[in-house]
Amino acid sequence: MWTLGGRQKIAYVCGEHQRRLLAHRKGEVDLMLVRGNWYLAVVCDIDDPGLIETTDVLGVDFGIVNIATDSDGRPYTGAAIEAGRTKLSRRRGGLQKRDTKAAKRRLRKLSGKQRRFQTHSNHCISKALVLEAKRSGRAISLEDLKGIRSRVKARASQRGRLHNWSFGQLRTFVAYKARLAGVPILFVDPRDTSRTCPACGCVDKRNRPNQSTFSCVSCGHAGMADHVAALNIRSKARAAVAPPAVLGA
Ligand SMILES: [Zn+2]
Repeated sequence: MWTLGGRQKIAYVCGEHQRRLLAHRKGEVDLMLVRGNWYLAVVCDIDDPGLIETTDVLGVDFGIVNIATDSDGRPYTGAAIEAGRTKLSRRRGGLQKRDTKAAKRRLRKLSGKQRRFQTHSNHCISKALVLEAKRSGRAISLEDLKGIRSRVKARASQRGRLHNWSFGQLRTFVAYKARLAGVPILFVDPRDTSRTCPACGCVDKRNRPNQSTFSCVSCGHAGMADHVAALNIRSKARAAVAPPAVLGA
């Protein structure tokens, strides 16, 4: 590194993943000071790998009850995430009532903490989704949305739960990790994905008596709302990619 005192050799540490990426370094490296730690910011230019062979689609719903649920019924959330969220929002609530300089400073610190916590969680969730799709030879399908906030009409009591989760960031993470892994991504029209019965095709608002459950008014098929939505997202993607005869029933 060139410094005022001439060229200096300075050791750095990085993880295995970052070390592999370094082979694709492009251009100059920036030195950054973030919260008292020095970081090197590196731009890497990586060619897209060829797309993997897929025989099916993994539908993914971003939701209220779980941050993400796939069409196998697997939730992507976890007690750690929920506990962290609740603790942070409680502490924040207590601080917001106080109008002192110290409270304001603590709030700023907390908001940084919550942002980093969300980013970390979104990295974990998107990584798990992409790994599962790749492992099982499936494309990923997501709703074609800008964000979830406009769609979610939660009751006031539930609104605090996930409405401030950064789903936009999660989508971005899923998209770029899928691209790096060669997993195709399919976007589907979000209309009626939460109120369509995957068993009989009945579309009715009443199929969704509350946020977490699905119960078909026509055929009685019932399930977790998030899982049902993910199944519908999968069906839509399959229908768009190939006629049912090609993919199997
Ligand atoms: Zn039905």
